[in-house]
Amino acid sequence: MKLMSMDKWGLNTNGMPLGIAGPCSAETEQQMLDTAEGLKHKNIHVFRAGVWKPRTRPNSFEGVGEIGLEWLAKVKKQTKIPVATEVASAEHVRLAIKHGIDVLWIGARTSVNPFAVQEIADALRGSDKIVLVKNPINPDLELWIGAMERINQAGIKKLGAIHRGFSTYEKVNFRNAPKWQIPIELKRRYPDLPIICDPSHIGGSRDLIFEISQTALNLEMHGLMIESHVDPNCALSDAKQQVKPIVAREITEKLLLRNHDLKGKGHLNQLKNLRDQIDELDHILISVFAQRMDRVNDIGKLKKEDNVAVLQSDRWSEILEDRTSLGLKSGMSEIFIKKIFEAIHQESINKQIVIVK
Ligand code: PEP
Ligand code: MN
Repeated sequence: MKLMSMDKWGLNTNGMPLGIAGPCSAETEQQMLDTAEGLKHKNIHVFRAGVWKPRTRPNSFEGVGEIGLEWLAKVKKQTKIPVATEVASAEHVRLAIKHGIDVLWIGARTSVNPFAVQEIADALRGSDKIVLVKNPINPDLELWIGAMERINQAGIKKLGAIHRGFSTYEKVNFRNAPKWQIPIELKRRYPDLPIICDPSHIGGSRDLIFEISQTALNLEMHGLMIESHVDPNCALSDAKQQVKPIVAREITEKLLLRNHDLKGKGHLNQLKNLRDQIDELDHILISVFAQRMDRVNDIGKLKKEDNVAVLQSDRWSEILEDRTSLGLKSGMSEIFIKKIFEAIHQESINKQIVIVK
């Protein structure tokens, strides 16, 4: 992808993480102006508001439409803060450009659909807008990258990604599971692509915003998009995850900014030493896994001889219980141990299925 560095987008962040804040939805002109006034702060560089809202169920508030763009233009004129909105069709792009909206984002329910993204990309051709692409609702990195490539191939170079978490059927602590390994892999593949974290849609609850934002900065993400409303409890959409402007400002003030590089040679040597140790430990892990798999093969042979089923549920429950409690005692999380042993167990079952055939 041909990308322009975020410092050249004209948003005056002074090298700080990009701060985007504003209500989930534009509701009234007054709500927009009051929220924007409250958000004036050196850490907040763009004001957001959705005017077309893609809602899960019909008959919920679906946004005020074009008039919301007029309110955004008024906010921009009054506060001098650049403004952002979500676009989901060529018509939305046309209207957003007509009203001088500075930043357009593609929502999670749109980035899943290559036809819709292509239509948006074609409508953007020739403009020099900043475009941010939210991850698709399902955890599919290729689909996310594909959406950004479509926008980039239409000539948009001020391009960034927004990580807003992924929908899962299992109920987790988060509204949308962060699955941090996905944005980490995106960053590895496209080191020049800015990634903005949206802690509001990941958490789904205002209490989680700070913690998720700090994790994002620890992972060297380039900015945050925080939903903020003058009267969050009365918001017409996403009420639980919105914070008052003053809270949004305080969150950005409390966050610790991480250095991108280590200080001095002493730390570099220490880092090299620790990484060497990690390499060594990983090699030991692989050899222990291999030894374990040998035992699994032997068990598979016995099961074949005695015509016993490969999956022994009681044994598997026992293993999981024992390893989890051991892991917890060693300071690891239950989720981590469960993930590792599920992967090991799955591989063992796969091996034995081949053996007993
Ligand atoms: C939003 O930003 O308000 C929104 C609808 O987000 P998402 O597309 O991430 O669900
Ligand atoms: Mn929202």
